[in-house]
Amino acid sequence: MAKIIAIANQKGGVGKTTTAVNLAASLAAAEKRTLLVDMDPQANACTGLGIDKSQLQSTVYHALLGEVDAREIIVSTELDLLRVLPSNTDLIGAEIELVTALAREVKLKSALDPLLNDFDFMVIDCPPSLGLLTVNALTAADSVLVPLQCEFYAMEGLSQLMNTIRIIKTQLNPRLAIHGILLTMFDGRNNLSHQVSEEIRTHFNGKVFHTVIPRNVRLSEAPSHGLPVLLYDVNSKGTAAYLDLAREIIGMGV
Ligand code: ADP
Ligand code: MG
Repeated sequence: MAKIIAIANQKGGVGKTTTAVNLAASLAAAEKRTLLVDMDPQANACTGLGIDKSQLQSTVYHALLGEVDAREIIVSTELDLLRVLPSNTDLIGAEIELVTALAREVKLKSALDPLLNDFDFMVIDCPPSLGLLTVNALTAADSVLVPLQCEFYAMEGLSQLMNTIRIIKTQLNPRLAIHGILLTMFDGRNNLSHQVSEEIRTHFNGKVFHTVIPRNVRLSEAPSHGLPVLLYDVNSKGTAAYLDLAREIIGMGV
């Protein structure tokens, strides 16, 4: 049975997509059959893996509406064990079209259910909002991973996210666990990075991943080559960090 991890934070630019792509690639490199589910209409995760969005007949949007079987729209990547459930701008419409649908929060869960035995992990990249797409991701997930950028306003908006998680846990998905907070774009030469990371560790005692993602230019370059960082520069700090994160998650057994 696949473990489903939602990567969520309603703030943009905190490293959700970078984490979704590179965690998924690192899990695949660790021989885990992995599905990356792109729930962002911007489809940056697809672009970052070299998927040509103009060639897609159907996307996660059609799977959410129940028009196609998710199995039929999965695309392959350069890594044998990494597959993608792709998205494109059609997905913007889903937020509106699903509003009046029955059981609108469980559409993604229903679409992924038939795939649970085909994968060891599913990693869901969420859009930068707490709307229906993120709610669907959190309802389908076993756990949520929250990337936080090591900057002054890191924790702003976090109570709203934690509140949403609590509501989904009580009303829609009792098994949802907070997998952890992931510190991203850490700059060891910057005092503020150290201060923010200490503050977050104190505040979220025990809920912060040991692995810290450093600021690394290779991580920002890799998507323009359509590759996860481990295929772009295997010796980079970014590659090492996301492989560590995959090992930490596999080791947690959740
Ligand atoms: P989100 O999906 O939360 O909006 P992204 O993953 O797209 O965030 O990251 C925002 C920007 O920061 C992107 O340009 C990305 O390449 C860059 N970035 C993300 N993580 C790192 C990192 N650890 N080091 C350097 N650049 C990063
Ligand atoms: Mg993103």
